[in-house]
Amino acid sequence: MNAINVIEPATGQVLETLEQTTEAELDLVIARAAKAQNQWSTESPQRRAQTLLALADAIERHCEELAHLEARNVGMPISDARGAVSGAATTFRYYSASPERLLGQTIPVDGGIDMTFREPIGVVGLITPWNYPLTIASWKIAPALAAGNAVVLKPSEMTPLTSLRLAELAAEVGLPDGLLNVVIGPGSSLGRKLVDHPSIGKIAFTGSTSVGKEIARRAADTVKRVTLELGGKSAALVFADADLDAAAEGLVGAVFGNSGQDCCARSRVFVQRSALDAFLTKVHDVVTSIAVGDPLLESTQMGPLISAGQVERVASFVDDASVFVRGSIPSGAGYWYPPTVLYPIQDDAPAAREEIFGPVVSILPFDSEDEAVARANNTVYGLAGSIWTSDAARSLRVARSMEAGALAVNSYTSVRVSTPFGGFKQSGIGRELGPDALDAYTEVKNVYFDTSIR
Ligand code: NAD
Repeated sequence: MNAINVIEPATGQVLETLEQTTEAELDLVIARAAKAQNQWSTESPQRRAQTLLALADAIERHCEELAHLEARNVGMPISDARGAVSGAATTFRYYSASPERLLGQTIPVDGGIDMTFREPIGVVGLITPWNYPLTIASWKIAPALAAGNAVVLKPSEMTPLTSLRLAELAAEVGLPDGLLNVVIGPGSSLGRKLVDHPSIGKIAFTGSTSVGKEIARRAADTVKRVTLELGGKSAALVFADADLDAAAEGLVGAVFGNSGQDCCARSRVFVQRSALDAFLTKVHDVVTSIAVGDPLLESTQMGPLISAGQVERVASFVDDASVFVRGSIPSGAGYWYPPTVLYPIQDDAPAAREEIFGPVVSILPFDSEDEAVARANNTVYGLAGSIWTSDAARSLRVARSMEAGALAVNSYTSVRVSTPFGGFKQSGIGRELGPDALDAYTEVKNVYFDTSIR
């Protein structure tokens, strides 16, 4: 057996050993999924809706179990993991209304009328990263199934446990056999095979920009549809008239949440110079009081990083000369890195320019609004961003100028189930969540009716 050891990052110990899916097994899974999809797409919309709703209820009933699994496998604090599980249930509940709302259009044309239908794509391949496994899987699975597709999900080989449990729950609530499949293996072999497979109609990928580029290139060979949710280097702009307490305290979630392993992390915080000293003082207090430790303790605010390699990678960005303040970490086993604030630092320093995917934030002073916007936009990424100000006109002006897909005013929020989420520039192609995601799992079919014949 070709085995994969799933590691618990807080201890460095093996949590579970799983068998890898072979390429031959993947072929069988896809063939079975195609059969199941034929049947599922002709089920009544009501039946599909009820099944998705039942899955939402099952996720909620198993909240503690799933949250523990996620906390142990990802290293996410248990309170955040509970939020992730209830978010997944909300996503299935939201899309359970969709099978009955896949509305088309009627378009009057010469000699007749056209009608459009939203048809499922077929079997779709979903590839997810290790940082929010259940959350991101549910963003893809729920709209894909709601639109009448079958799914083959390849979670990250590092954090597959909640995806596997989700598929079991789906079977228990009556999702037809073969419709939701989870395959286990590395991206470099199994992931590539899924992307290349001629019977897969679409790849929805969340992960790094470098792998996203490769997937876009490979998908071109079979003209697959692709949705890409990629990396980020998001900015927060803090103006002097902002609520500085809220802007500083919010960094606990916005930069250090999930140990900074968050594609929307506001890892560049631009602060208007007249508020800089006050802001730095507040940030110092916030960072030194973050409780870093065992993810299963209720009081923990930040857990470990995913792997020893990730700790090394994060450390490689941090030049001690620019460390303004660091939090503390537990001693002993596990993959720990302290919450770290860099100041002073130049915009073009690697830590201020590249996605670190760790608990590190750069503080960058600015003088004018135009300067702040130009510097915030000076990146290949364009995922998320925040604008902190009490001037409403400015907040809208800046929001319109920022090149990012998920912006928040006086908040670090990036995601709501009913609103579109995705990136500008090299942060991705397409949108997840809201009605946009549903569109992304369908093909538009146009049917012309000739009404001129009497
Ligand atoms: P990654 O790109 O290394 O891997 C993501 C997934 O792709 C994994 O399942 C992996 O096995 C698979 N994979 C790797 N190489 C592949 C290949 N050649 N072909 C097919 N599949 C392949 O990313 P990661 O390290 O797991 O996650 C971190 C990255 O994900 C960060 O860059 C982060 O910004 C990004 N991310 C983006 C979003 C978003 O919504 N935009 C959300 C979360 C994470």
